[in-house]
Amino acid sequence: MTWEEVDAAVARGAGIILVAAATEQHGPHLPLGTDSIIGTELALEVARGLDLVVAPTLTYGYRSRPLSGGGQRFPGTTSVRATTLIAVVSDILREFERHGFRKIVLLAHHMENQHLLYEAAFEVVGPTATNETRVMIIECPYPPGPLIEDEPTVRPPAVGLDHASVLETSLMLHLRPELVHEDRFVDDPMITDPGYDLLPIPDGFTAASGVLSGSRGASEQIGERAFDAAVQHVRAMIASEFFANSD
Ligand SMILES: [Zn+2]
Repeated sequence: MTWEEVDAAVARGAGIILVAAATEQHGPHLPLGTDSIIGTELALEVARGLDLVVAPTLTYGYRSRPLSGGGQRFPGTTSVRATTLIAVVSDILREFERHGFRKIVLLAHHMENQHLLYEAAFEVVGPTATNETRVMIIECPYPPGPLIEDEPTVRPPAVGLDHASVLETSLMLHLRPELVHEDRFVDDPMITDPGYDLLPIPDGFTAASGVLSGSRGASEQIGERAFDAAVQHVRAMIASEFFANSD
């Protein structure tokens, strides 16, 4: 978009969505940009049904955790500390406000970012704020419960231990098949969550492959249905909060 197009969007009361994703290992078969690619595609599709500007995705996120993303031991996983993420997101929010956006959506597409987006928004639009800016924080784009009724094994990543597994692999097969190495699928059993974290990260604490519960069984069909389910879910939330009186 050009600056004049942004100005026109603000003038007609459009909202804006920022995806906070990551650069993180996703096993031997998916690219480091998986969270960013899926999150961006999701936002673009959600926006098609709403008057919503899609801001450039934040492609660096908070530290990968061993039990949700494999942790910071993998080459390529490039993360920022919590205070950096909060600072960057709150700076961006202030810029959105300066442009005139009053309906702002923050969408986490990397589990570890979740509470930090809330913190960034709180810094900018705390409970005592007097301006009319509203920030909606969506911490998981996937609806609760089974994502696809007849595919109960397809779990949202927010459940944990599903990193680079059936759901994300299927979504990538649907969105960017040319980036998926099907010959490198991993059949590891789901790792066991001991109920605690340990630092330094011990050997064997997370899957050596980076895939936390296996990627076999992933398919383009599952990816298409999961993507549609997520789009409907996110669009419905934003519509009900920000566009209740329009279509
Ligand atoms: Zn991911």
